[in-house]
Amino acid sequence: MPTVSRCARASTIVASNESRVTVQQVAPLHKSIATSRPCPVCDHRKGEVLHAQKFVLPEDQKLTAGYNVVVCEVCGAAFADTTVRQRHYDELYAQQSRYAAGPAAHASDNDRDIARFRDMAAAVGRRVPDRSARIVDVGCANGQMLAALAQLGFSSLSGIDPSPACAQQAAAIPGVAAYAGSLTKMPEDVEPYDVVILSHVLEHVRDVKASLTYLKRFVTASALIYVEVPDASRYVDFAWSPFQDFNTEHINHFSLVSLGNLMRQCGVRPVQAAAKEILSAPGMPYPAIYCFAEVDAKVPATLEKDADLKERLLAYIRVSRELMDGIDARLTENVRNGASVIVWGTGELTAKLLVDTALRHANIVRFVDSNPINQGRVLRGIPIVAPSDLHSGDEIIVVASILHHEAIVRAVRALGLRNPVLRLTTGALESPSS
Ligand SMILES: [Zn+2]
Repeated sequence: MPTVSRCARASTIVASNESRVTVQQVAPLHKSIATSRPCPVCDHRKGEVLHAQKFVLPEDQKLTAGYNVVVCEVCGAAFADTTVRQRHYDELYAQQSRYAAGPAAHASDNDRDIARFRDMAAAVGRRVPDRSARIVDVGCANGQMLAALAQLGFSSLSGIDPSPACAQQAAAIPGVAAYAGSLTKMPEDVEPYDVVILSHVLEHVRDVKASLTYLKRFVTASALIYVEVPDASRYVDFAWSPFQDFNTEHINHFSLVSLGNLMRQCGVRPVQAAAKEILSAPGMPYPAIYCFAEVDAKVPATLEKDADLKERLLAYIRVSRELMDGIDARLTENVRNGASVIVWGTGELTAKLLVDTALRHANIVRFVDSNPINQGRVLRGIPIVAPSDLHSGDEIIVVASILHHEAIVRAVRALGLRNPVLRLTTGALESPSS
């Protein structure tokens, strides 16, 4: 175990044997810095650093191994001050969409998602009585929201997703036209859209204002836009997994205030906005906000300072750090003395565990992931294999997910594997009979 404190570690560059990925310069916490990307809401370039987030990523991953989480000094919006360019994110989502394997790869999530999209479609349906309205879902993944809209009788539905595999799946839904594209690359030669769905998209976009401005070229003069994003002001109230929302994909952290600011800055007038919760895993709700807004060239571009978000995020960081320290203690207890370890799950939590916990120095013999998109990739010099490639042994299987730990433990036992299993939430080693 490193003897440095976590704060000191946060400003330490990842050790040389893990440095195949580039590491962004780390700024001192709570200092005002000139940011490397402008504020996504007001374009200002001065922010206060709240947190330095680090990742160990698969070797083919083109993202940086970390960034500072900052709040804008002018408008109070929060964002990841990443140096990754928009085109790299575009490539990532085109090639490595976790939805590309289709709903079957998320069997345990499927019923939950169907209910979620049915609720969202119903909200759109109440605001859009005309069932022939031209609706486009940008970032449609495999098209479940479009399927829910089709069930409500909407007849002119389009989906756009950066992943060609996702677009293909969406196109298979009867009555849906789908295209490979994005908020930065819309299909040309299509009729303007009346309604745009942007569900859990804007938190992923680096050049968010430029993208929304570009999007307006493809819509009618008073088009309706439905935006849904995570609610950064309530991360702390739903902190199941440490630093869950400071991940490689979520680079904008909106509140109702900053989302309203963004809409007005882009010539879109918010007409209804509220907080909601969605179920990201069984028993683990996730905070979101949504906003219906109308394209309106006359909306004043007023900025309301978000006075609360910084303190809410600092509280989230404190809670996350406590969670991570608990996990670290449980891992230290079980993986010391060179015990062989299989890490099941190679997602965002693992990317942090490999920096921030005893897993960093553990004797990891395999990484396992059930999503085919991750299999065959190499993490810390070790290939990621499919669950079916495992054989029973003495290695401890570390369940490297909190949101999906029940499903993973079930999968381990369903394969007949007799390895001891370690859950990060309890630290208890479970044998097959327990
Ligand atoms: Zn700002």
